[in-house]
Amino acid sequence: MVGNAWRSIRNRSLLQKFGLTALVAIALIGIVIGQLLRTSVERQVLDGAIGEAEVVSRLGLQNAIGPSELKNGLTSQRVRSLELALRSDFARIDVVDVVLWNLDRTVVFATDTTDIGTSSTVSTEVRRAEAGEALAIVVDLTADTDADPLLRRHGRVVQVYQPVRFGSSASAETSGVLRTSIPYGPIAETIAAETRRLYLALALACLALYALLFRLVADASSELQRRADENEQQARHDALTGLPNRTLFAEELDGILQRHGTHPLAIALIDLDRFKDVNDTLGHHTGDLLLIEVGRRLQETLRAHDLVARLGGDEFALVLTGMVDAEAALVVAGRVVEVIEEPFEIEGLQLDVGASIGVAMAPEHGTDLATLLQRADIAMYLAKRTGVGAALYDPTHDHHSPQQLALVGDLRRRMDEELVVHYQPKLDLRADRVCGVEALVRWDHPELGLLPPADFVPLAERSGMMNRLTSIVLEQSLAQLGRWLADGRDLHLAVNVSARGLHDAALTDVIESGLARNGVPAERLVLEVTETTIAADPDGARDVLGRLRSQGVRFSIDDFGTGYSSLAVLRSLPVNEIKIDREFVGDLSHPEGSAIVEYSIRLGHMLGLTVVAEGVEDPEDQPRLLGLGCDLGQGFWFAPPMPADELTAWLDARPDTDRSVPAPPAVPHPTTGSAGGVLDADETAIR
Ligand code: C2E
Ligand code: MG
Ligand code: MG
Repeated sequence: MVGNAWRSIRNRSLLQKFGLTALVAIALIGIVIGQLLRTSVERQVLDGAIGEAEVVSRLGLQNAIGPSELKNGLTSQRVRSLELALRSDFARIDVVDVVLWNLDRTVVFATDTTDIGTSSTVSTEVRRAEAGEALAIVVDLTADTDADPLLRRHGRVVQVYQPVRFGSSASAETSGVLRTSIPYGPIAETIAAETRRLYLALALACLALYALLFRLVADASSELQRRADENEQQARHDALTGLPNRTLFAEELDGILQRHGTHPLAIALIDLDRFKDVNDTLGHHTGDLLLIEVGRRLQETLRAHDLVARLGGDEFALVLTGMVDAEAALVVAGRVVEVIEEPFEIEGLQLDVGASIGVAMAPEHGTDLATLLQRADIAMYLAKRTGVGAALYDPTHDHHSPQQLALVGDLRRRMDEELVVHYQPKLDLRADRVCGVEALVRWDHPELGLLPPADFVPLAERSGMMNRLTSIVLEQSLAQLGRWLADGRDLHLAVNVSARGLHDAALTDVIESGLARNGVPAERLVLEVTETTIAADPDGARDVLGRLRSQGVRFSIDDFGTGYSSLAVLRSLPVNEIKIDREFVGDLSHPEGSAIVEYSIRLGHMLGLTVVAEGVEDPEDQPRLLGLGCDLGQGFWFAPPMPADELTAWLDARPDTDRSVPAPPAVPHPTTGSAGGVLDADETAIR
């Protein structure tokens, strides 16, 4: 029960808690003080009674009896005269009875004369009085069956015991004990009246104290509440724009999502374009003013029940309720873009910024805060990248979608078992014979089938798995090349290497050991790198390429023409080959396409490089490319990429099949790379 009461107190407000606790505490203090006061009043009143009895003893008895009379007893005549004298005193002082003992504990005098001369059992009080102490006790005579019936009707009496001394000094010897009984009734009334008065005063004091404390605490509590409200407002609102901040936005959105159930609503993330320029050129003050204005415009543009928040920096967020579908949300987002594109007038300056807005729909794109925000964010980056203003979330642009994440996990776990390499032949256009193959990776996924590199190579790039992937491709394809070479086939192998792979020192080890293990001369290996890879770090690329080149490995610039390698970089790089991108080769029939291919071939030759045309699909392309002086061709017109055994069969079926190449030495020397006729044949392909 106490537990329940405490729990219910704990749940109340600070003021209520204080009110209750203080009430209980002050009441307890009041009760204790009341008890102490009552005891003190009783003490005082009884002291008064002792004082009265003193008067009786002094006036009536002590002055009238001498020491010898007390010791030896009184004559009956003396008793009577004393009785008379006392009675006149009793008229003044209300006395019930008087008993006087000498030190022999014999009653020398008593108002009940029958007791005179008796020596009753002596009480503790008499003994204490004999020792010199004056004391008073309250006795209920009605309960005392030995008492005189006349006395019993007095009920409760105060019996005062006093030492009787002769002589004025307080240190004089005690000669006897006098007991004076006074009715307790009037004393009790005095005590009751006094206590009532004190209780009243005490209650009033406690009440005043309680009221004062309550008032003080109420004031302090309301001040604290006001500050807490202020802090709460600051903690959940953006100080600059006064809009809800990320915390409040998240809470509100959570609530809205719960209330809305399956009704569609849109979450839009807004990122300002060119805001950084404003901040950098005009300073943070202007930037701040601009943000305030943007917040104001957003609020003005949207309906009152739409939620506008500033998440930080130049990022704002909206929750648009009552949207029938994504189209409607995009219309509103488009309007917001227009409103923000209107010039802002800040401190006399006209400022132009733009906005990129990403929209995610609930429940279509997600039903929880984190998912919706993440998807609106993806859409916002899409809008920024494509410059469309407002974009809707599209799962195909989402690298975080559950399917993509599952695929990354599968790839990581099963890469070694499920990656396979297909090979596409490269032809010497003049000799019309196969001089090499390009290794192209595929993922033989048990549920999704054979996946092309576009479906998983970017995932591997982003998830740090590229080096493992390159190693697997190198292992498989170098082993295959070893077999083809051992079979007497005159082929070289091209392997694609990604940007990250190129900067990995471990790649060199994988290549060296792969070549040695499979008995493949380094000159038989061509690493295809893209222009973008090289452009990202030309010096680093030069180092890695240089190291591998010194061992005999060859390099090719893949997708040539799609990146932007400067001609100077191209000239200084130790590459052997360029592969003109299929985008240009596919355009050969047009004069512009043909011009680009021709220019690339001439440039390549001028730099002393072999030129390969990728994506040869058209039967007319081979003579055209030959006419332009192109060295090698690769494309569906010749053959698509295929598994090794299919390619072997395809090679065997070709009339140009030349199995005259001698098998390479069992353990070739990677640095000299000398492999007899293999090199000579290769030289025609790659200079
Ligand atoms: P790439 O290195 O430029 O490879 C040539 C791509 O063109 C291959 O696509 C090939 O199938 C395709 N192709 C060949 N002939 C034709 C044609 O006549 N017409 C058309 N339209 N396409 C043709 P694939 O196998 O899908 O590979 C795509 C890209 O994936 C490759 O482009 C390469 O950049 C990358 N890739 C493939 N395997 C690997 C690998 O093992 N490592 C790395 N890092 N990237 C790889
Ligand atoms: Mg390639
Ligand atoms: Mg290519």
